[in-house]
Amino acid sequence: MPDKNNIVFLDGQFIAMSEAKISPMDRGFLFGDGIYEVVPSYDAKLVGFGPHIERMQNGLNAIGIKLDLGVDDWRDIAQTLIEKNGKGNLGLYFHVSRGADVKRFHAYPDNIQPTVFAYAFEIPAATKADKSTVKQYKVASTQDLRWKRCQIKSTSLLGNVMHFQQGQEAGVHETILYNEHNELTEASACNVFIVKDEVVITPPLDNQILPGITRNMLLDILRKYGTLQVEERVINMNEVNAADELWLTSSSKDIAPVVELDGQPVGNGSVGDIWQLAQSLYCANKYNY
Ligand code: PLP
Repeated sequence: MPDKNNIVFLDGQFIAMSEAKISPMDRGFLFGDGIYEVVPSYDAKLVGFGPHIERMQNGLNAIGIKLDLGVDDWRDIAQTLIEKNGKGNLGLYFHVSRGADVKRFHAYPDNIQPTVFAYAFEIPAATKADKSTVKQYKVASTQDLRWKRCQIKSTSLLGNVMHFQQGQEAGVHETILYNEHNELTEASACNVFIVKDEVVITPPLDNQILPGITRNMLLDILRKYGTLQVEERVINMNEVNAADELWLTSSSKDIAPVVELDGQPVGNGSVGDIWQLAQSLYCANKYNY
């Protein structure tokens, strides 16, 4: 019997993870030719489901994968995975690859059937707006050496993997990245925000960053319900180094406060008041998306 945490979805069927098999000629395996999403769910309540599926559809359109699944189909898959794997704190992973070809050739045939895989995995409990219990992050910075299409949530993640691994080997939690002009882009698996003089600032959307759902929800929440000034603009790394607060955002982390950058304290080296305010607004409103 499969244990309760490993019923997965593969190409239309719910099966045990141990029975889920794909072809070695799958272009996801050979080329990283696919798109993915991760949606958080807390006690069966999904966060940002519509925006996540919209981003996945944008990614599929960008790389020319045609798939006949709409938001309601994805929601059904998500709900079935939640039912079959137990409620609790889950990340729902959705993965669409271009599918299996008969040969390894860079160009893809027209009539290829996409491979659709989804599974649920345990994630930490939702972050609380509590300075005394929140995980405090340490990060290092390095030049962003990934490709120039970072707005696509591609399964080709080797560039991100290498940057993340670099951080792990340096004993920090994440690696934040800057371009050849010394401007902040994002982190290997998160978006980045700084706070200076109570202004919340994050880089603008372009090809250098993923349009993070947490980023977009947080900006919307701060603008609608907050009193803080919010800016989307280019940020030089000198500003990052001089910031009062530094945050990472992602679906599995909410807003994660960074207290150390390249071995130096961020601001006064402790979790900031603006983080507390932003995280509490985020907690109060995140299920509305
Ligand atoms: N940037 C990168 C490179 C990521 O991989 C992720 C999440 O996986 C994010 C940003 C944050 O995106 P989201 O808030 O949609 O999880």
